[in-house]
Amino acid sequence: MLACEQCSLHQWRTQVVPGHGNPDADIAFVAEAPGVEEDRLGEPLVGPAGKRLDRHLTALGLTRDMVWLDNTVHCRPPDNDLRRFPDAQLRCPPLWLFPVLQQVRPKVIVAMGRTAGALWFPGMAAHELSRLARSTGEYLVVGAYHPSAALRESGDWNALDDSIVASIRRAILLAEEEGL
Ligand code: URA
Repeated sequence: MLACEQCSLHQWRTQVVPGHGNPDADIAFVAEAPGVEEDRLGEPLVGPAGKRLDRHLTALGLTRDMVWLDNTVHCRPPDNDLRRFPDAQLRCPPLWLFPVLQQVRPKVIVAMGRTAGALWFPGMAAHELSRLARSTGEYLVVGAYHPSAALRESGDWNALDDSIVASIRRAILLAEEEGL
């Protein structure tokens, strides 16, 4: 994985940023793509969005070492603009994300933001994201706002934080109800 050149993003990255966390985690969080800090440190969600996610984890009584953290795409897009790289969005998840999730076998996958959401809920509208949940029998996937959304919404951070935490809490309860 660390030498992957399967899409155009390899030309710009400092390093590949693999998923990270507890390989036996019951819950996995999938975001979009590494940003500046992740590209520098080689670990997902360690920049401002990750700090925001840490607050959500704390609110749920979770820590980073209890969960699996990953991205849809594993190399940083220039200017953090993944929309310009459809080849990365197409090729990266089947090569690196899905196989890893099959090994970790989480009971709940939280797809954070539109890019991760589209992997499991193709064609969804962005405003629907936090209401989407689907069980495969093996795991339950829920959509949630990306933690960066809470960073951007300067007016109403707390409401968005609450919405993200509520989505995740709902997913954990649903998974328990389904006996996952
Ligand atoms: N950092 C990540 O690792 N993923 C994102 O989607 C955003 C910031």
